[in-house]
Amino acid sequence: MRYQGPVYRPPSEAGSLLIQATLGCPHNKCRFCSMYKNKRFKIRLLRDIFEDLDRALEFYGSNIHTLFLPDGNTIVVKTSSLIKIIERARRNFPELERITVYGSARFLLLKKIEELKALREAGLSRVHMGLESGDDEVLKEMEKGATAAECAEAGRKVKEAGIELSVYYLLGLGGLARLEEHARKSAEVINAIGPDFIRIRTLSPLEGTPLYSDYLSGHFTLPSPHEAMRELKYLVEGLEGPFMLLSDHINNYLNLTGKLPDDKKDFLAEIEAARECDDSWFVRRLMVL
Ligand code: SF4
Repeated sequence: MRYQGPVYRPPSEAGSLLIQATLGCPHNKCRFCSMYKNKRFKIRLLRDIFEDLDRALEFYGSNIHTLFLPDGNTIVVKTSSLIKIIERARRNFPELERITVYGSARFLLLKKIEELKALREAGLSRVHMGLESGDDEVLKEMEKGATAAECAEAGRKVKEAGIELSVYYLLGLGGLARLEEHARKSAEVINAIGPDFIRIRTLSPLEGTPLYSDYLSGHFTLPSPHEAMRELKYLVEGLEGPFMLLSDHINNYLNLTGKLPDDKKDFLAEIEAARECDDSWFVRRLMVL
């Protein structure tokens, strides 16, 4: 396998074979994102991807159960090519149980429902979609490239095609100014989608991103840990389910993991307990996670 530049994958893909189908992100404009800022977007040649799949077979043998195809927004790859990649992967690794890509709303909407169904049929089993927010103001400010209605439509299409969907929520992205709207409107969009998983991430303005400059200049105010807990409360209050809620990243202050709606009462109690703690508790939590 030949990896180019930093390779990102969801924590849930830690045990997966990673084969880059794309390099960088075709959007690459989100103000908070640093992942592919220095990578020019490219769809790799099928020949190169096949060679990597064959090298992985030689190196690891055929006993691979999960495959993730980085980089950003691999869903943008032409459907017929993505199907060929999936078919080659399944031929090399007949025990594959899950094949996953990143896909944000802007690029999912380029696919017809028939294309998504064909991808499901071929073996694409899960898409990770960065919703980040369901608040149009926040989406526009952060240059996410899609409106809340478009995000809802894209997510529903994935589900209609029979593909598992993970949706990401970025705690703090509304800043202090839109903390409540960001949380409550996101809950509405997530309910409208009905994903399989909601994955919470907590915003840290990263050096080199436009948001970092806004943060330094005071144009963007990052919610404190206590304010972030208030935001999380609004989000959880609004979520209906059924879906799994996961906090599977070290950047989260609080580890909420369980099912909605069954665990909503417990989640809210955990959030209330955290709100009673002083700031040093949040620092400790981050260190031990
Ligand atoms: S679409 Fe995703 S990978 Fe691309 S810039 Fe936005 S957050 Fe980053």
